[in-house]
Amino acid sequence: MTSKRDYYEVLNVGRSASGEEIKRSYRKLAVKFHPDKNPDDPHAEEKFKELGEAYDVLSDGEKRAAYDRFGHAAFAQGGGRAGGFHDPFDIFREVFGGGGGGGIFETFFGGGGAQPDGSQRGSDLRYDMQITLEEAAFGVEKEIEVRKLDACEICHGSGAAPGSRAVTCPTCRGRGQVVSSRGFFQVSQTCPNCHGLGEVIERPCERCHGEGRVEKTSRIKIKVPAGISHGSRLRSGGNGEAGVRGGGQGDLYIVVHIKEHPIFQREEDNLFCEVPISFATAALGGEVPVPTLEGKASLKVPAGTQSGQSFRLRSKGVVQVNGRERGDLYARLLVEVPTHLNSEQRQKLEEFAELCGEDNSPLGKSFFERAKEFFR
Ligand SMILES: [Zn+2]
Ligand SMILES: [Zn+2]
Repeated sequence: MTSKRDYYEVLNVGRSASGEEIKRSYRKLAVKFHPDKNPDDPHAEEKFKELGEAYDVLSDGEKRAAYDRFGHAAFAQGGGRAGGFHDPFDIFREVFGGGGGGGIFETFFGGGGAQPDGSQRGSDLRYDMQITLEEAAFGVEKEIEVRKLDACEICHGSGAAPGSRAVTCPTCRGRGQVVSSRGFFQVSQTCPNCHGLGEVIERPCERCHGEGRVEKTSRIKIKVPAGISHGSRLRSGGNGEAGVRGGGQGDLYIVVHIKEHPIFQREEDNLFCEVPISFATAALGGEVPVPTLEGKASLKVPAGTQSGQSFRLRSKGVVQVNGRERGDLYARLLVEVPTHLNSEQRQKLEEFAELCGEDNSPLGKSFFERAKEFFR
């Protein structure tokens, strides 16, 4: 067995490349090295097979892990094409989502959802976007950067080099089928030249290798409506991948993730927070500063407030995503017990305790009433 090139090198990706990156690079290279496109290169078929083999391994989590640990040795038993590789042409069909009939170019220039003219709608894309609770509550406009396949600026998506164009296939004269005789029978087959499209590109565009699209970074504005909830999906029509050979654009779906807030928890349109208050304020009553999404608000606390009691601040929550009503903010007050008492404070508190006796503890009284039998 001759020495083999590193699969990552073959696919021109880094060792940490994501599955999507591997797939993308494979597509690009498969287009470039496809034997049909390189009739003059005797090594094209070999390169194409090597590519298919590398993709077969690196696109499969288990095989990739084995390759990362053991290299080519992981698949050495049985030589050359061991390890249950598919025919690279099958892989090619898988990647392009095609299937059945036709041949490579039917899947490549169309396949699954292909149109009769060989165009194919671009894939929908997903983008995960993090926003703050404030942004979710009031709405926000964000500009995001997405790396994706966009229409090639040289051929404007047609896949044909400037001055060149799609012409009727000379082999089948545009029918997509050729008829050959086998003995007494006439057999109709998919045209091997245009692979059933009936058209061929005179000269493929050099920038995009005839695919009509290239990878680019796009900046896209996303309007996030006020009141959006965690996990919501926004659709940005036509901002997915460009179609193949001028096919329609896919859509971009933005999945919204709301970051945890240091103060507020959200439940639907209501917000919850915990606010510490001093023991004295809880006992005497008074005003407590409470944080809201818009800043500080003041909450009037009645004398005798217990720890854990919640107070509602009307309409200080999050606006309903499809309405005008706003949820409420619930502030849960936590009474703080002083930890470091100076001698004067300590003395006053001891005097206070003496004054209280048992009468000033309604909760405690009923508790001990109920717990009596356990203290016998
Ligand atoms: Zn192009
Ligand atoms: Zn043809």
